[in-house]
Amino acid sequence: MSEKTSQVRELKEKLFAKKKNGFLRMNDSEIAECDAFCEDYKKFLDRAKTEREAAAVAVEMLTAKGYVEYVPGMKLNPGDKIYKNNRDKAVVMAIIGTEPISSGVRLCAAHIDSPRLDLKQNPVYEDSEMALFKTHYYGGIKKYQWTAMPLALHGVIVKSDNSKITVSIGEDEGDPVFCVTDLLPHLGTDQMKRTLAQGIKGEELNIVIGSRPFRDDEGSELVKLNILSILFEKYGITESDFISAELEAVPAFKARDIGFDRSMIGSYGHDDRVCAYTAFAATLDCENPKHTVVTVLTDKEETGSDGNTGLCSSYLEYFIADLAEDLGSKGRTVLSASQCLSADVNAAFDPTFPEVMERNNCAYINKGVCVTKFTGARGKSGTSDASAEFVGRVRNLLDSNNVIWQTGELGKVDMGGGGTVAAYIANLDVDTIDVGVPVLSMHAPFEIVSKIDVYSAYRAFSVFIND
Ligand code: MN
Ligand code: MN
Repeated sequence: MSEKTSQVRELKEKLFAKKKNGFLRMNDSEIAECDAFCEDYKKFLDRAKTEREAAAVAVEMLTAKGYVEYVPGMKLNPGDKIYKNNRDKAVVMAIIGTEPISSGVRLCAAHIDSPRLDLKQNPVYEDSEMALFKTHYYGGIKKYQWTAMPLALHGVIVKSDNSKITVSIGEDEGDPVFCVTDLLPHLGTDQMKRTLAQGIKGEELNIVIGSRPFRDDEGSELVKLNILSILFEKYGITESDFISAELEAVPAFKARDIGFDRSMIGSYGHDDRVCAYTAFAATLDCENPKHTVVTVLTDKEETGSDGNTGLCSSYLEYFIADLAEDLGSKGRTVLSASQCLSADVNAAFDPTFPEVMERNNCAYINKGVCVTKFTGARGKSGTSDASAEFVGRVRNLLDSNNVIWQTGELGKVDMGGGGTVAAYIANLDVDTIDVGVPVLSMHAPFEIVSKIDVYSAYRAFSVFIND
């Protein structure tokens, strides 16, 4: 090698940003730790397919770790662990820090709702001696992806006497599953001329639930009658009880390793249980933090965060205000001094669809947790745009703790875009930045993440809340 070449190499090493694959930056024991962490994540995915299930699993795990339900006015000491369950759909938890709460909290926010098909209020109907459910999709989906695959049904039914039944059908091997049908290609000539967005229309997302009639030669709607009588026998419900039900159809398959090298995980609902689980696991592993840690697993992000379980509501603000008061401060004082990692997924570069990404500023599989300074669309509309100072702080924190991370923007400028809860938290005067795991096929029934990126997210949340 000439002297010139080695000089160039040295200069490059010193001046160029490093973008090495995370696998090459981890040793075998770190990879083993990462893979073991992901086994637990897969179990969580299979147990928590809806916001209600994720909230229930979270409360169960919090209780096992000694967290107690928070009641405003409680006496709180450093190291105390508390949580609040918001209507069984969102959970906010805290560990009291050794520093006064007026120095702010370390906040992690992730969502536990995912795109799916919700049943309508009057869902059951019979057509041509088949029984079906009418649905209204929840969140941003490509509708054609939700046909011709097994669906499970999860949720609750509240009966007229206010008793509540929890439903989960289609997950156990012996369970039946449900399905939205699609046209056979032989007769799809007209359908194939529709645009992809219209390939399957909203009112065509009907779920098949039965086909055998009630044994009687008289009367109409005997298949529907048979289904309702099965449901009455199993749950004691009648057709009217669907009015006060929340039933969600989700993919019936389980989380699986992807690739010969098992480097990735395919599953329904990585968005955003991948960030919810990693932030939650980091919180569970945290003991005696300096700053009070608050982690919120929220609902309704996929429909815009409105409603009393979404982060546009005041529930998080109230929780922090109550905590502040119990610890001798004010909610607004605490919020203004707080820092937040808004934990949500980002799009991973897909070699099959490179045209939507700008290669210097997008996230890649295996390059670690993705830090996104700003989100939004068309001129950063709707973004919270973290300050250079806060990005600098986070960058320094991750680097000094050897967290594998990258930056990423959601696609090319004006290609589309999107945002998450960061803006709503930043609007409370909190320093906020988006941090999350890159996902392939985001919002599809089967999404893909890299195990290294999942583990890097856990490490990022961990160093942030323990800082
Ligand atoms: Mn999300
Ligand atoms: Mn999403």
